[in-house]
Amino acid sequence: MDDKEKDIHRENQGNTAGEDDGYERICYICRRPESKTGPMVQMPGGIHMCHDCMQKAFDSLNQSGMDLSRFPGMPYMNLGDMAGFVQPEPIPQRQKIKKKSGEEKTYTIRDIPAPHQIKRQLDAYVVGQEQAKKAISVAVYNHYKRAFLSQNQLKDEDVVIEKSNILMIGPTGSGKTYLVKTLAKLLDVPLAIADATSLTEAGYIGDDIESVVSKLLAAAGNDVERAQRGIIFIDEIDKIAKKQQTNTRDVSGESVQQELLKLLEGSIVEVPVGSGQKNAMTPMATVNTDNILFICGGAFPDLEEIIRERLKKTASMGFGAALKDAYDEDKNILSQVTNSDLRRFGMIPEFLGRLPVMVTLQRLDKTLMKRILLEPKNAILKQYEKLLAYDEVKLEFDDQALDWIAEEALKKDTGARALRAILEDFMLDIMYEVPKDPNIGTVIITRPYLEKSGGPRIEMRG
Ligand code: ADP
Repeated sequence: MDDKEKDIHRENQGNTAGEDDGYERICYICRRPESKTGPMVQMPGGIHMCHDCMQKAFDSLNQSGMDLSRFPGMPYMNLGDMAGFVQPEPIPQRQKIKKKSGEEKTYTIRDIPAPHQIKRQLDAYVVGQEQAKKAISVAVYNHYKRAFLSQNQLKDEDVVIEKSNILMIGPTGSGKTYLVKTLAKLLDVPLAIADATSLTEAGYIGDDIESVVSKLLAAAGNDVERAQRGIIFIDEIDKIAKKQQTNTRDVSGESVQQELLKLLEGSIVEVPVGSGQKNAMTPMATVNTDNILFICGGAFPDLEEIIRERLKKTASMGFGAALKDAYDEDKNILSQVTNSDLRRFGMIPEFLGRLPVMVTLQRLDKTLMKRILLEPKNAILKQYEKLLAYDEVKLEFDDQALDWIAEEALKKDTGARALRAILEDFMLDIMYEVPKDPNIGTVIITRPYLEKSGGPRIEMRG
């Protein structure tokens, strides 16, 4: 076959852009090359489409009729463009395969996502807690800026930027752990979660302080460089408050706070690789904790009382007597916490000094609970809806049913954690019964069903 014949042959096989000629196919919609998207679907007219875009097109058709404006790269179908007679850019059908170079992309300080970008991403998952999300976004931005400067030896000798480790205070189930997990995922950094109650002073039974760094190293796949940019979340930090009166040696309270100081401010530690235990056989790695972001979280029960007491004392000295009742009512009193309140709670000043960013989370109310059910990208209701959608059944909840679920969750006093348990309880029957009958088209969960005085509303396919 001569060259022309070869081309015709390829054309007939639909292989207009085979890799063998040094070119690869690119998706007609998202313009990514086949090496990124995986195998493409061949469309009439020599067009190729990746599986992601194909799926999006189907989803879009299913959800809302035809919303082609979601495909900005699609000429003649972008209705917005059509209206303004804007001619679409010509789309190349093929692009040169990029040679993989050994060089890694060099990052600049501009690559660190700005606080509003971090917050916007957190918003997609974490409902409410606006102030906390804002404060965390700024702290994280500053932290990685500082880390960037120190890694690139750009530190200013005159102005030393301090670490912005975070103390997170909020009731159980208000989203502390969830916020940190989401953050680590968005930033694509390793995360280790440790429980302060399991930490003890070196030499005592329990995990020694450095075990938290070991965990992070494991989360980073034993890559020290990656671990050094990670996040360590120490939960239940309120449990290592100094005991008020004690005659015995305080192995799990004040002394653990003391031992944590060095890690928090940045130090070099030797930790075992691949095992929590130090022994002669375990290889050790040296980790610098200077650029590790530490977030300590806790519910701090009784802290609200301490804050209230202080505020009332100040009020009674002036003309603020009327305020005293307002403090009793204030559901968000935690946001007025100061260092002195935390010291009274039992945290030592040096420890608090290493956690300069203080963030408080609100107790969840009924409105927030309902929003948590519905809004996050991976909301629990969306998960159930999706599961039933595979059986081609539509799942809906009427508003009073959502009220009931939120009210029940509030009674349990474990924050949003209760939601899943409540849902699982009644969804079990639905998930079991519905697939039995192929004629069921829609299931609507009603309040009477949840209160066990009625059934769900069922609509048949028609
Ligand atoms: P804690 O404050 O005790 O650490 P968690 O973060 O573990 O609470 O929250 C428990 C669960 O509740 C999370 O896994 C998440 O699914 C849900 N949740 C809690 N708060 C929120 C929130 N503000 N937005 C979305 N989901 C939340």
